[in-house]
Amino acid sequence: MIKGYQEKVLNLYDKKRKNNTELLKNRKTEIYSKVPRIKQIDTTITKSFIDLSTSAFKEIPNRESYLSDLKAKITDLKVEKSELLVQYGYPMDYLNEIYECKKCGDTGYIGAKRCECFNKTLVMLYYVTSELKDILLSNNFSKFRLDYFENHRFNDMGSPRKNIEKILYKSKEYIRDFSSSDENLFFYGSAGTGKTFLTNCIAKELLDKGYLVIYKTSDELIESLKEIRFDKDKVLEDAIINCDLLIIDDLGTESDTDFTRSELYNLLNKKILTNKKMIISTNFSLEELMNRYSERITSRLFGNFTVHKFYGEDIRIKLNLKRIH
Ligand SMILES: [Zn+2]
Repeated sequence: MIKGYQEKVLNLYDKKRKNNTELLKNRKTEIYSKVPRIKQIDTTITKSFIDLSTSAFKEIPNRESYLSDLKAKITDLKVEKSELLVQYGYPMDYLNEIYECKKCGDTGYIGAKRCECFNKTLVMLYYVTSELKDILLSNNFSKFRLDYFENHRFNDMGSPRKNIEKILYKSKEYIRDFSSSDENLFFYGSAGTGKTFLTNCIAKELLDKGYLVIYKTSDELIESLKEIRFDKDKVLEDAIINCDLLIIDDLGTESDTDFTRSELYNLLNKKILTNKKMIISTNFSLEELMNRYSERITSRLFGNFTVHKFYGEDIRIKLNLKRIH
């Protein structure tokens, strides 16, 4: 299974690096306009490094003191830069290179040896691509149709269009801040209001950025949890626990047994404790959720997830009616 995936893993590292280079570039633009002194410092540091590396080819009297002065100057500038960042409310390393794996700098290799993150990525990629491929061809943000949502009040609530616009905006923020946040999302509401479509859009976008996303309906998830528990499938366990994002679609459609309830609780708990992100969607109302699940599960859901309510007419039914008339 694994063979054809090696190239894909390297592509993934490529995407990660490009993504993080872009992120760093944006951070620099932001900081340089807010704190112009930091731009000056960076320019001087770059220049000093050039002086340092070209000094070997130059005639320099008192070479030793020249070099140690230059190094001391660079250190002072770096200290000043860190202090300025902190003073303006940023982390000290805000402008450092961004890596998800500091050991290999997101290349997958340390010298000629594979970094430990390589195999992890390889295995997870296998799960991800086998489950998401087809869905993602059709569901992505460019195909999201806001005009399917009614632009007037719906029952006692505001306009479904405004509501979905707000959720869409939040979802794009979620994707933008994905690497630096540990937010989980919980989408609930009646059928045909765009929940699954939106989770797929988010999945697609994050996969394109090089993150490992596992998508499962709650039914499939329970099957996987059984394989982990009874067949001791460590690889699958690692993938589900450590992927960058686990999407659980259609919570509530799984069979309601003691096993599912306790395994679901254990999984939620483990993911929350290790800050591994999740998106969960369900057609249940909050009341139905509270009736179905124990307090320890619902308190995890409502306490550790940002909750978004979807509502409106069932889009699928509406589209079918249009086709008939
Ligand atoms: Zn690594």
